[in-house]
Amino acid sequence: MTTTDQPLVHAVNVHKAFHGTDVLKGIDMDVAAGEVVTLLGPSGSGKTTFLRCINQLETIDGGRIWVDGDLMGYAEKGGRLHTLNDKKIAAQRREIGMVFQRFNLFPHMTATENVMEAPVQVKGESKSDARKRAGELLERVGMSDRSHAYPAQLSGGQQQRVAIARALAMQPKLMLFDEPTSALDPELVGEVLNVMRELANDGMTMIVVTHEMSFAREVADRVVFMDGGVVVEQGDPRQVISNPQHARTKSFLQRMQ
Ligand code: ADP
Repeated sequence: MTTTDQPLVHAVNVHKAFHGTDVLKGIDMDVAAGEVVTLLGPSGSGKTTFLRCINQLETIDGGRIWVDGDLMGYAEKGGRLHTLNDKKIAAQRREIGMVFQRFNLFPHMTATENVMEAPVQVKGESKSDARKRAGELLERVGMSDRSHAYPAQLSGGQQQRVAIARALAMQPKLMLFDEPTSALDPELVGEVLNVMRELANDGMTMIVVTHEMSFAREVADRVVFMDGGVVVEQGDPRQVISNPQHARTKSFLQRMQ
């Protein structure tokens, strides 16, 4: 159980380098249960890498990340840290839903089958239970009427809504969104943001990398501005967006308008 005084995500001094280049230079971040945090920052500032580190799609070079009190990638035994094996890491990853810029649905499966896949294959749920739950989730993202459609028959916005339902099917504690609307035609952005807004209203803990300032302003509890692998500034969205304190935040926000 998550207690109110323990953050759901507790990241301390996270470092990550690629080929000798430091990309994350000591990120500290706590996210409370039920909190919605938007990560803002210029391209290349390390936002995606940080999300991938939380989900262990990247191995961190330094620091620690806990999700719901669970030290990601490690276990303590006899006062020493041990790296977890792949099976344990996969189990930890299942607690976290991730939605990518590209929808990554299985092309040969219908919307329902996409949503059922992980609960059946990974959790061993019965097909009838998984199908029932997929129906509920597709309804939640407004896709009930297209449940038998294949990804190629759906618009980008519809595919992304199915991708959100698919991530929710594993009943994650935390949802990570990596620029979920960046690949969409402008007229399809709103339907995906609406689903995310409802998820936030339902109390889901979310970390969202996005350039959608309206989402940051209206839905997020906090924005975190990153640049050059560090957190430059964070706080209440309206305050940070309308009254940034740091020159780097100011110049980024000016370019976004
Ligand atoms: P952002 O999400 O803020 O745009 P990223 O986390 O995607 O930033 O990237 C940060 C930096 O890390 C960039 O310079 C990028 O080229 C580099 N990078 C990201 N992933 C890799 C990788 N797998 N191999 C090498 N460099 C990478």
